[in-house]
Amino acid sequence: MRSLAVLSLHTSPLAQPGTGDGGGMNVYVRELSSALARAGVACHVYTRAWSESLPAVVAVEPGLRVHHVPAGPLAPVPKEQLRGLVDEFVEGVLCRVKGTAGIPDAIHANYWLSGIAGHVLKHELGVPLASTFHTLARVKAESSPEELGADEPTHRAHAEAHVIGCSDAVLASCAVEADQITELYDADPERVYVVAPGVDHAFFAPGHGPQARRALGLPASGPMLLFVGRIQPLKGVDVAVHALAALEGHTDAFLAVVGGPSGPQGHTEVSRLRALVRTLGLEERVRFLAPQPHELLSTYYRAADVCVVPSRSESFGLVALEAAACGTPVVAAAVGGLRTLVDHAETGFLVETRDPADYAAYIAEILDHPRLARDMSTRAAQRARRYTWSTAAGELRRLYATLTERQLVDCP
Ligand code: UDP
Repeated sequence: MRSLAVLSLHTSPLAQPGTGDGGGMNVYVRELSSALARAGVACHVYTRAWSESLPAVVAVEPGLRVHHVPAGPLAPVPKEQLRGLVDEFVEGVLCRVKGTAGIPDAIHANYWLSGIAGHVLKHELGVPLASTFHTLARVKAESSPEELGADEPTHRAHAEAHVIGCSDAVLASCAVEADQITELYDADPERVYVVAPGVDHAFFAPGHGPQARRALGLPASGPMLLFVGRIQPLKGVDVAVHALAALEGHTDAFLAVVGGPSGPQGHTEVSRLRALVRTLGLEERVRFLAPQPHELLSTYYRAADVCVVPSRSESFGLVALEAAACGTPVVAAAVGGLRTLVDHAETGFLVETRDPADYAAYIAEILDHPRLARDMSTRAAQRARRYTWSTAAGELRRLYATLTERQLVDCP
């Protein structure tokens, strides 16, 4: 297994995560490709060129190249309109593959749009296809229907099912996601593999809280709650705000929200949250902070007493893992990958309801018991150490090698 084509049509691994279309998938594609490159698998990442000023190819590090492939206008295009540009993207990738990049041994497609492209490329090139969906329409339809475009649920779910049916491997981040793929998409369980993402422990490690607060210019006193991520209804930032309001005995507590609007509802959601903060009289206690470069986030996690992850659904939840790696207890919704990442009452708490009072009760439990908080912090950092990008890359490298020796799966 020497070379891999990684498809990331709608968003570049070089983009800022935490706003717009940039999130966990960008971090996943960048970190995994980088770890694979270090393990000797040359990775060519293909993403849509969205500006004239982008070079055709960026050599990120030895063995990792990002190709900007023209498809549609050299301008940002909303994710909801990208389906029509997939064919052109495929042509662009084929051009690079048959030119300087070379035919890959396997393809790894990310998200359903790249999945469609990957499926065509698989048949054109005769190489195996591994697909990671990151989010799935049928899961989203259950938890956050308003985030799906009007015609998207059936149209997207149908495309996902088609790609799953012809993928040589479907990658899930955790057992919960693997079950969703087999149950909601009738996938062959033999072709669904759980490969957990990782965290860069060189950046995300425990540190000195007070120093972190000083470095960020945040108040030295008062408990700090932290939300990190894209702002859209699915992420449930409103639950974190209401939980702060419901937190009894901690009137000096404050909430930092790091991230920016994302998706069709993003801007409305930001306005809604600002209005909510005003209505609850929390202007002095909620800070909205711009998206931060990924490596700098460790300072925010270290500064915080509790990281709150109230998502309605989450295929994995890198933020919860990064917080844990920094020794910050996590209070998270008991959904998706968060169920795997948070050990209830050991490294944080899992909340079964969407009631902010329940979140507030668990947050107070941590704030009111410094010994419990310290123990949780130590355990969280320890347990996070099992997740590394090099482990994920090693598992994938072995999997790709097996796939290249098998007969390719054909369309059902
Ligand atoms: N992130 C970041 N800067 C920000 C906000 C978020 O680098 O200002 C990163 C964060 O560190 C995490 C990713 O964006 O790695 C979000 O991933 P997650 O799986 O939590 O959510 P997703 O975006 O996939 O829904």
